[in-house]
Amino acid sequence: MPELTFTPVIGIEIHIRLKSDSKLFCSCSTNTDAAPNTNICPVCMGLPGTLPHLNHRVVEQGMLAGFALNCGIRPKSLFFRKSYFYPDLPKGHQISQCDLPITTSGYIEVHDAEGKLKKIRVHHLHLEEDVGSLHHSASDGRLEGADTSYVDYNRSGTPLAEIVSEPDVASAAEAVEYVMTLRRRVIYSGASDVELEKGMMRFDANVSMKCSDGRWGHKVEVKNMNSFKALERAIEYEIKRQKKIMLQGGEVMQETRHWNDAKGVTSASRVKEFYRKFIVEPDLPPLFISQEWIDRVAARMPEMPDVRANRYVNEWGVPQEVADVLTDDKNLADYFEACVKAGANPVRAAHWVRTEVLRVLNERGQKIQDFAMRPEVLAEVVKRVDDGKLSTTQGKEVFDHMAANNSSLDEAISALGITEGGVAGSALNEIIARVISENPDVLEEIRSGKDKKGKKLKFLQGLVMKETKGQAKPQEVAEAVAEAVK
Ligand SMILES: [Zn+2]
Repeated sequence: MPELTFTPVIGIEIHIRLKSDSKLFCSCSTNTDAAPNTNICPVCMGLPGTLPHLNHRVVEQGMLAGFALNCGIRPKSLFFRKSYFYPDLPKGHQISQCDLPITTSGYIEVHDAEGKLKKIRVHHLHLEEDVGSLHHSASDGRLEGADTSYVDYNRSGTPLAEIVSEPDVASAAEAVEYVMTLRRRVIYSGASDVELEKGMMRFDANVSMKCSDGRWGHKVEVKNMNSFKALERAIEYEIKRQKKIMLQGGEVMQETRHWNDAKGVTSASRVKEFYRKFIVEPDLPPLFISQEWIDRVAARMPEMPDVRANRYVNEWGVPQEVADVLTDDKNLADYFEACVKAGANPVRAAHWVRTEVLRVLNERGQKIQDFAMRPEVLAEVVKRVDDGKLSTTQGKEVFDHMAANNSSLDEAISALGITEGGVAGSALNEIIARVISENPDVLEEIRSGKDKKGKKLKFLQGLVMKETKGQAKPQEVAEAVAEAVK
């Protein structure tokens, strides 16, 4: 009997808080960190006789997020009432676009197990309001000693985008890349800051398994993941759990399970989902979006981070890993590109920003916007190292001195007592090491004694002279190269 294989089939639902100063249907502040129940009004409390009023700025944020997911915008969408009772929902219903959302379908590209790009289709993005938050004394240190639950309605009515994928995700790794790529793109679009530690992005996953013997397991909805790590662990756990059941000939039950991050397990939800009655929200007209409005918002979209990273890789030869780091933060990518524009070699500049600039920023807990050294100045340091006027070690010393003292390049060079000009010493040695490492076959011939007439040695010496742009003494180069190949 052939060994059974299993293919995970995973769909992901994401809630993202959209960036807005005011709530979705009233003018209350969206500051959820304020003292409990201070940013509320009759509208977001759903008091009788109040009417919701749609915040058009949030509609634009939703459009931007949609563009970031390669979605189209529907000319007409609707709001619905999802009626259910829960203490964090004072109105007794949540207003959501669930059935006729603002966007059409889209996609996000991720790498599959073989490293090939594949599309994870996005079914749609819709707008909805968030609910309040509950604080239980047992889990919330703020209310130590109390055996009471408190409800804070500051979050009621803050704007959310819910993003629903098709079940195209085949592993926990793909799921994580999908949500990370999606998050970066949404941040770039300006639709949200998506600060994970502030709970601005929450995940649910639908996981089922297809067996090579033709069996399909039921779909299990896993809820309550608030970090990339939790999403990854929850999916891995669920894949293992379902596989085990199917290997034993059992049947995976269709159910909702909750991820327990502390224990690292999912468990069946004890709370039965309430029946949610959907009706078209009678207090809100359909949302009509003109082509002119769509075009105006679309014009605000910047180049997306993965597209940008691919450009660095394909046009400039920057390694993928470095390109990903640089484009993770739009301002950092802008800084790097300004460096290149100022004449620095793109690959070298990328490494300088990736290692030296980020190191200094991490040490200081700063962002690139706070970094005093202008990209044009860093470009000059990179160029001097590239020209061999400064060794890499000297370049780093100069860079550190400039960063620490806010000094100019010339000030740093004279403060460190570095004499520029002729290429010698460590700068020359670095060039020789580079030339040798780029010509391993030539080195091999010399070392194996095949270079009887010394032609290969001369070839290397010539390359080094060329790299120094004639700034080194030929005799010194000849001796240093001869020494280096021994
Ligand atoms: Zn309000």
